[in-house]
Amino acid sequence: MLELKGIQKDYPVGEGVVHALKGIDLRFRTNEFVAILGPSGCGKTTMLNIIGGLDQYTAGDLMINGKSTKDFKDRDWDTYRNHSIGFVFQSYNLVPVLNVYENIVLPIELDGEKVDHSFVNSIIATLGLESKLTNLPNQLSGGQQQRVAIARALATKPAIILADEPTGNLDSKTSLDVLGLLKVTSEKFGQTIVMITHNEELAQMAQRIIRIEDGRIAGDRNV
Ligand code: ADP
Ligand code: MG
Repeated sequence: MLELKGIQKDYPVGEGVVHALKGIDLRFRTNEFVAILGPSGCGKTTMLNIIGGLDQYTAGDLMINGKSTKDFKDRDWDTYRNHSIGFVFQSYNLVPVLNVYENIVLPIELDGEKVDHSFVNSIIATLGLESKLTNLPNQLSGGQQQRVAIARALATKPAIILADEPTGNLDSKTSLDVLGLLKVTSEKFGQTIVMITHNEELAQMAQRIIRIEDGRIAGDRNV
């Protein structure tokens, strides 16, 4: 469904250039839970942003359902981001003046789509948020806020969930709880998860662990 072919990314910096990705070849399978591990600065976020259409690659190709994205226009990337991808970031990025339910359905409403309330309610139940729906984000713990952000990412029914250090602000027990829920929901709703972490223990929850070092794939194995 999603394939990176020789993906390279250069960032111009002053007079020079940073080669953040030096030729990444990867294929993701449907319903796979993949962890991306690697030291700080190795290119994890760059790769995730390219997969999610948030940033452009310098060379190579990103194939979506067998189709090249080389000739994608802004409009094509917008459609891809809005319909195929759900993002979960380390900072939960919830809207402080909207309650939990409003935050979860916001991307659907911004997209002008009808909310599938029974689907959204099943996500809410799976993530254990039923009793918090009218709370504002600042009335929730960090773990609860990240569960809301996960619900929001899942609610648009994306094929792929991209998570960049999603538990970076949570303690280790809460991290395991939140990732366990992410795993259960994605299995239930048939979604692929690509999750960046630098925590070996959390990576073990995935089915596949990809290691990146200095802009290259240094390991790729099924757990
Ligand atoms: P990671 O997420 O693994 O910590 P990043 O993908 O954020 O790594 O960064 C990879 C490399 O690219 C680093 O050397 C970083 O400094 C550089 N980099 C990332 N974003 C930019 C940018 N916008 N401009 C210039 N250099 C960048
Ligand atoms: Mg990063």
